[in-house]
Amino acid sequence: MAAFTTEKVTHVYHWTPAYFTFKCTRSESLRFKNGQFVMVGLMNEGKPLMRAYSISSANWEEELEFFSIKVPDGPLTSRLQHLKVGDEVLISAKPTGTLILDDLNPGKNLYLLSTGTGIAPFLSVTKDPDAYEQFEKIILMHGVRHQSDLAYYDRFLKELPEHEYLGDMVKEKLIYYPVVSREDYTHHGRITDFLINGTLFDELGLPPITPENDRAMICGGPDMLKSCVDMLTNHFGLKISPKTGVRGDFVIERAFVDQ
Ligand SMILES: Cc1cc2nc3c(=O)[nH]c(=O)nc-3n(C[C@H](O)[C@H](O)[C@H](O)COP(=O)(O)OP(=O)(O)OC[C@H]3O[C@@H](n4cnc5c(N)ncnc54)[C@H](O)[C@@H]3O)c2cc1C
Repeated sequence: MAAFTTEKVTHVYHWTPAYFTFKCTRSESLRFKNGQFVMVGLMNEGKPLMRAYSISSANWEEELEFFSIKVPDGPLTSRLQHLKVGDEVLISAKPTGTLILDDLNPGKNLYLLSTGTGIAPFLSVTKDPDAYEQFEKIILMHGVRHQSDLAYYDRFLKELPEHEYLGDMVKEKLIYYPVVSREDYTHHGRITDFLINGTLFDELGLPPITPENDRAMICGGPDMLKSCVDMLTNHFGLKISPKTGVRGDFVIERAFVDQ
């Protein structure tokens, strides 16, 4: 099997000068678990230039969706941000990753903790019917610097609750909790603040996180990852899944850590 397939861009949307979303065709042979990532890239001087990308579409969807940063001098994203419908992108044939529901112990509530483009794998998980079957509540926290960075805000408050198949489960179980750090906002601060000081639990009427009831998935930059792992482990007593195939109370994307 070839290492990657060539796919056609079907949709591009720019949220802000820093973030954009694109969709492309999906090879029939590409199978993945929600939360996993693939390598995405472009041909560059005759060679593939590839970077890891969480798949934002769910595994039952026909097309692939990606939520991307635009790094001004980034080797890939300085070019990727100029994608147009009809352009070609390279997608690796073998998805992988440790942010998967399979590696979580059974529990009542699932906390999805993300910052910036770290919400990408959770766009997929929040469209997974299994997630709604396994948990009573799914709390998606998205931390960003500015309110305008809250890409996908309408997805959670308008589109998913009205979704033909997922709508009823989403209305009953999904709680979207956006947090803004650098300007005045209803939830102003960092996501760890709202959990450690209990504001989120008081506001949502949920009991504080315990190892008996609560599970989590974390995706964000290195500092966020470190502070969330530290909080879940030391403040709330949850145990991390040590590797793929071994369950824990929470999972992280190990490819970020091993970079
Ligand atoms: C498992 C995994 C999944 C990833 N999923 C995504 C995703 O879904 N969307 C996405 O945009 N990126 C994602 N990334 C990062 C991605 O692989 C690239 O780093 C990013 O596309 C920039 O590529 P580049 O070649 O332009 O710059 P690079 O040379 O790769 O990065 C330059 C610098 O930009 C910063 N940077 C890179 N990516 C980000 C980011 N996403 N947010 C904030 N700062 C960043 C870092 O400081 C980095 O050192 C993921 C990385 C890993 C390891």
